[in-house]
Amino acid sequence: MNNFKAAAAGLAALAFAAMPTAFAQAQDYPSRPVTMVVPFSAGGPTDTVARLVAESMSRSLGQQVVVENVGGAGGTRGAGQVAKASPDGYTILLHHIGQATAATLYRKLPYNVLTDFEEVGLVTDVPMTLIGKSGLEPKDVTELVAFVKDKKDGVIYGNAGVGSASHLCGMLFMSALGTQMTTVPYQGTGPAMNDLVGGQIDLMCDQTTNTTGQIKAGKVKAYAVTTPNRLKSLPDLPTMQEGGVKDFEIAVWHGVYAPKGTPKEVVTKLNAALVAALQDPKVIARFADLGTEPVALDRATPEVHEKFLAAEVAKWKPVIEQAGVFAD
Ligand code: ASP
Repeated sequence: MNNFKAAAAGLAALAFAAMPTAFAQAQDYPSRPVTMVVPFSAGGPTDTVARLVAESMSRSLGQQVVVENVGGAGGTRGAGQVAKASPDGYTILLHHIGQATAATLYRKLPYNVLTDFEEVGLVTDVPMTLIGKSGLEPKDVTELVAFVKDKKDGVIYGNAGVGSASHLCGMLFMSALGTQMTTVPYQGTGPAMNDLVGGQIDLMCDQTTNTTGQIKAGKVKAYAVTTPNRLKSLPDLPTMQEGGVKDFEIAVWHGVYAPKGTPKEVVTKLNAALVAALQDPKVIARFADLGTEPVALDRATPEVHEKFLAAEVAKWKPVIEQAGVFAD
């Protein structure tokens, strides 16, 4: 055997020897705790969804699913960390619509949203609400529109950074009004909500999973919901369209991801645990309190999630390009 053939044979033997190990690892999965990265701060809406789902998945998997908050850069720091993690199922990501919008918003994204992940399944679609600090002058959306047009960058809008849902919602609002506000980025809307309640910022648009409690407690002023129809959980809150802002529609969907190359058996186990969580009465009840519900189970599959992500990237690309907002 020449040297080249010997080396090739050696490599093949090595690969063969490694195969049963990878197989056995997938069979035994999970044999230790799983880290679920949330790319925003603790206490925010994505974190809330993740903690509910992680607790239920822990029961199904027989191992703790531990939430780790890796905020920053509109969710791209946490997502990037998972894209580069070992593809063994022990590091997963629960992200939102920002996974799709980052593909266009970030000019130098250090990962590819479409090719660097294995989709595990969709989780939930969450409406957003436009809210102001308590005591903000305008009493409804019509007055708010006039107020923002008048004060422009004198209005301070909090968001979770470029690429976040709150950024996207604010961007749509500003482009509908043809004006600019001053935006303040946080690592998540958990801390932004603290500042809104404290009166340090004026406005925010965020998932009902973060805003419902504060709206009901009267700690913030609710203006509108961003879905075409009113919500059962906040029936008195008008839609943006009712308030005269036409064609305004955005909801935040969440999905679970593993790094590309995670064995299929592992993705299947994660998906089964996710599907069980979506049928867990405790998760369903808490989601309902927060103005959302689990996705229909036929959407909680890797295949549907993969197609949906690609469709969302394509849907938001022209909107973002037209708005001309980019980040490096
Ligand atoms: N709601 C945030 C956003 O604007 C993220 C979060 O803190 O969950 O995208």
